[in-house]
Amino acid sequence: METCDVAVIGAGPAGVMAAWTAARTGANTILLEKEAHPGRKPCAEGILTEVLEDAEVSADPKFAINRIKGAVLYGPDEKKRVNVGGEGYILDKPALLNVLAERARVSGSALEFGRTVEAVTRENGHVVINGKRGSEPFSLKARVAIGCDGTGSILARQYFQRRKYQVIAAFQYDMTGCRVEDESKLEIFIGHKKAPAGYVWIFPKGDRAANVGIGLKGSGAKMLLDKFIEEHPAVFGDAKIERTQSAPVPVGGEVDEYVSDNMMLCGDAAGQVIPLTGAGIHTSLVAGKIAGEVAGKAAVEGNVGSKRLQAYQKRFDELWAGKISNSLKALESFERFSDEELNVITDYLDGQDLIEMAHGFSPSRAISLLVKHPILAMKVAHQLLGS
Ligand SMILES: Cc1cc2nc3c(=O)[nH]c(=O)nc-3n(C[C@H](O)[C@H](O)[C@H](O)COP(=O)(O)OP(=O)(O)OC[C@H]3O[C@@H](n4cnc5c(N)ncnc54)[C@H](O)[C@@H]3O)c2cc1C
Repeated sequence: METCDVAVIGAGPAGVMAAWTAARTGANTILLEKEAHPGRKPCAEGILTEVLEDAEVSADPKFAINRIKGAVLYGPDEKKRVNVGGEGYILDKPALLNVLAERARVSGSALEFGRTVEAVTRENGHVVINGKRGSEPFSLKARVAIGCDGTGSILARQYFQRRKYQVIAAFQYDMTGCRVEDESKLEIFIGHKKAPAGYVWIFPKGDRAANVGIGLKGSGAKMLLDKFIEEHPAVFGDAKIERTQSAPVPVGGEVDEYVSDNMMLCGDAAGQVIPLTGAGIHTSLVAGKIAGEVAGKAAVEGNVGSKRLQAYQKRFDELWAGKISNSLKALESFERFSDEELNVITDYLDGQDLIEMAHGFSPSRAISLLVKHPILAMKVAHQLLGS
């Protein structure tokens, strides 16, 4: 049987970072990915600039394909446009993941693409990972397994409770020939008629290409996105759908426990996503970075019990737990507002207020503005302050 110190399952943003930092500690590390190349999962590919800083890479046109200078948010009636600040990029996410995977390889991690993990068992202080490489079975013994294998995580399903875990459907078209007003701005459309408890996005990639998608609670994603496209002929009149993809997004907040003896979960597998926006690239990269380092050091020390591995949960939660749970509260509140109320809210708030709510920063200014409104006061006070 093959052996290693740290086995990372999944080469998404969490996995490529975890493999890198684990290998850097000197731990014998293997990254297992079922696909032949990273980045097959659909994504709108939008990030803020600081994401690349946390990933410790410089923006390279190879993967940072369109510079973004803010976003425009439309209320349900689309009468008011709220300009939201913030700089970032639209990525070619597979290209970024390739760069990060290659960095992990150069640091000493083995990259095993085309290997599907099917079962994990804990045995005498190790984990044994069984799976297939093509049709060939393989077994691998590791001191620590890090589950970076997304919403359907094998490790999560077998060994973790994930009681609060909740996913919504996201559906996306890669389109060409779109006529967005300003290709340096993201466009976001809210409203329950358009996207129940979610939103529609247009993330421009440059040269009239864009990721156009919808995230929502419930069913009907394709039908609602098609309707949205039909209702915006100025943007989509000449546009062409190049590819259709869908995937779940976890929006129920972080799971309570994501570390146990010999095991850790990172990224979507652990619910580490900002619930109101569905953004998970940043959180996943940071989680993987911390988890890999803790797992690598623990494996080299020969102490891989949950107490030692908890250092990862502690460090990640210090950075992100508050933001994720504040954003979850904001999502739960916004779900309960009607479209008419959302029109008033977008009228009242400016972009900074909205971004603070969405990202889970303390939205004190937004709350103080909203509670002055006669209709919204009670509802906001009850939902935002009381939750
Ligand atoms: C439509 C859509 C749009 C999105 N847009 C954005 C956005 O614009 N910005 C943003 O920040 N976030 C966005 N997200 C969220 C973001 O994509 C995820 O939060 C992020 O990719 C999670 O990273 P991860 O590493 O945890 O998991 P994933 O990216 O899901 O990667 C998991 C990896 O594990 C592999 N794998 C799974 N099972 C196995 C197995 N059994 N054996 C081996 N390998 C396995 C998969 O092939 C995959 O490569 C979007 C999500 C969706 C669905």
